[in-house]
Amino acid sequence: MKNLIPVIGLEVHIELNTATKMFCRCRAYHFGEKPNTNVCPVCLGLPGALPSANKKAIWDTIKFGLALNSQISSFSKFDRKHYFYPDLPKGYQISQYDLPFCTKGTFTLKNGKVINIRRIHLEEDTGKLIHKTVDGKKVSLVDYNRSGVPLMEMVTEPDFTDPSDVDEFLKEIQLIVKYLGISDADMEKGSMRLEANISLKEEDQGLPDYKIELKNINSFRFLSKALQAEIVRQKQILETGSKPVQETRGYDEVKNTTFSQRTKEEAQDYRYMPEPDIPPITINEKVVLRIKNKLPDLPNQKRKIFKKLNLSEHYIETLVSDKNRALYFDEAINIAKDHNISAKEIASVMVNQNMDLKYPEPAGLIKKLLEIQKADYASQKEVKGAVNVVLKQNTKAVDDYKNGKTQVVGFLIGQIQKELKGKGEVKLVQEILRKKLEE
Ligand SMILES: [Zn+2]
Repeated sequence: MKNLIPVIGLEVHIELNTATKMFCRCRAYHFGEKPNTNVCPVCLGLPGALPSANKKAIWDTIKFGLALNSQISSFSKFDRKHYFYPDLPKGYQISQYDLPFCTKGTFTLKNGKVINIRRIHLEEDTGKLIHKTVDGKKVSLVDYNRSGVPLMEMVTEPDFTDPSDVDEFLKEIQLIVKYLGISDADMEKGSMRLEANISLKEEDQGLPDYKIELKNINSFRFLSKALQAEIVRQKQILETGSKPVQETRGYDEVKNTTFSQRTKEEAQDYRYMPEPDIPPITINEKVVLRIKNKLPDLPNQKRKIFKKLNLSEHYIETLVSDKNRALYFDEAINIAKDHNISAKEIASVMVNQNMDLKYPEPAGLIKKLLEIQKADYASQKEVKGAVNVVLKQNTKAVDDYKNGKTQVVGFLIGQIQKELKGKGEVKLVQEILRKKLEE
C-alpha cells in the first residue's frame, strides 16, 4: 500500500458575546445564571413569536470573516434547519444554508501552507440539557437560557494533513476572536466548540469516499490526540483492505482512543427552507469597508510590530498570546519612549518577572523601572571622568566637531557609555559632553 495521508477538515462553533440574544432581546450571558431566567416567547419557540435579527452579531461575524480574508456576501438570509431535540423547542434552528455571511476565507500557517475556509455563518445556539439524579431517579432537565444565543460557525476545507497544524490553527483562531473582542472563546465554558472530520487517502488519489467525524472534544490537546489515534486506527483498517465505517466518534482521554458514538447510515435531511419571519439581508460594501478599517491589530500584525523592536521569538509569543498583555506592552513602550528604557527591558520584566501583574498600570511599571535604573546610574562625577577620558583619547573627533561635524557626538556618546559600562544616564551624558565640547 502506498503512503497514506490524513485529510482533515474542521467545524468550529463560537458563541458571540453580544449583550442580547440572536433573535430576541433576552440577555445573552448565560454562564452560572439561574436556569430559565433569560427567556421569552421567541427563544422558547412559542407559536406566533416573531424573531428579529441582532445587527451587532452580524457585524461581529463580518469582522471575523474579514480577519480571515473572507468574501463578505452582499446578499444573505437566514434559513430554518429542521430537527428534533428537547433543547430545541421550535423543532428547527434558525441558521444559514446557501447564503452564509462569509465565504472563501484563507489562513496561512507558520510553515506557509494555506488553509481554505469554506464559510462562516451565523445561527442560534440551542438550550442545554442537564442530566442528573433527583431522589434516586435519573432525570434530564432543560435550561433555555442558552437558547437563541448567537453562534458563529466556521467550516474549513479538508486542507489539513497534520494534527499539529490543526492545533496551531485553532489556537490562532481563538486568539483572533479574543483580539476582535467578539467572544471569550472559552473551551471549558463551551463558548468555543470543535468538531473535526478525518479520513486517510493514498498519496496520489483524490478525496476518500468516507469520513469519520470527531465530536464532543473539549480541548485542543484532546483533539490533537484524538486525530492522532484516528490516524493509527484508520491506517490499520485500510491496510487490511477494508474501509472504516462512516460514523461519529468521541475521544476517551483515559484510554487515549476514539470510540463509536453513532453510525451515520444516510445524510440527515434537515429540510432547509428560507426563514419566512426574517427578511433577507443586504450588506452594503461601504459598511463592510468601514468595519474593515476599524478592525483592531490582530495577533500577526502585533507580531510584526514587536519583531521590529528586536524582541526574541519567546518574548513576542508571550506578549502576543494574551491580548491584554500585548496592549499593556504597547502602552508601556509608548510611555518609555521619553526615557532611556528599551522595549527589550520592558518585555524582559513583563515576561520573566511578571511585573505587569504587580503594576496593573503601565505607567507604574515604567516609574518602577526608572527608579531601579536611577539607583544603578553612574554618578555625575563618574560621568564627568568618563567624558574627560574619551575626549582625550579622541582628539580627532573633537576637532571634527569643532569644524562643524556634529554627527561625531553619537560616536562619542557610544565611547563614553562603553567607559561607563552602559550605566550612563543618557540625558546627563549628553549634557556634560556638550558642555565640554563647547568649552
Ligand atoms: Zn428571548
